[in-house]
Amino acid sequence: MFKRTSAHRYAPSPVNGIRPSANHIQNGALAVQNGRAVAAIINSLLELPFKIKIATQDYHPLDHCSFASQHADAKPFTSSLTITNPEASDGSSAESQEITLWPDHCVQGTPGCEFIPELNLSLIDRVVRKGEDPRVEAYSGFGPEFRAPAVAMTCLTDLLREHDIKQVVVCGLALDYCVRCTAIDSAKQGFQTTVVEDATKAVNQDESALLRVRNELNAHSVKVSQSTSGEFRSLLGLSRDGSTA
Ligand SMILES: [Zn+2]
Repeated sequence: MFKRTSAHRYAPSPVNGIRPSANHIQNGALAVQNGRAVAAIINSLLELPFKIKIATQDYHPLDHCSFASQHADAKPFTSSLTITNPEASDGSSAESQEITLWPDHCVQGTPGCEFIPELNLSLIDRVVRKGEDPRVEAYSGFGPEFRAPAVAMTCLTDLLREHDIKQVVVCGLALDYCVRCTAIDSAKQGFQTTVVEDATKAVNQDESALLRVRNELNAHSVKVSQSTSGEFRSLLGLSRDGSTA
């Protein structure tokens, strides 16, 4: 049985960023090949003694800027669009971001934004919604990439700080988009951050693309680990068989 680690030990205090929704599994609008397979591993992670377990949820209005349907002649998956920070006071020097355009997905109030039923939602403490502002894309669970000024940030940073979190563990879909951006944002904000790679799946599963993602994560001081690795188990103060070390 897993037991909570006691306070005087090296106490892990991570959060899981979990986001396999109906639109991200094999037959959904944003299909991630074998995306459904990660649910079992995520459920096993949710049994571990984390201080708080948070799921992030893509939650778009119908007119979201990342939907190819909102742009003339745009094609999902292959078209891109450059957006600028809509809150910048000086438009000429505003931050810009090139975003990929997708099919309509995770639309508020539709089955596409629901978590897949395989996930054990009863083990999740909080759901943080993102992507609600139609003007900006938000891969990261912390909010859109624009920070000068910040636009439509989620409550995730406040939630982590309120719970005195020092370490963050990220998993879910997709590794090369939301997991990558959430993990990098987490590290930038000073949290020791680990991505559990076998609890993720990438949109682009070519080995060279996966290597680029791993390298980028490492360059931002994000650890990439496996759920069964000794390194990950010891991070949580667990022995390999799951008992507390
Ligand atoms: Zn989205």
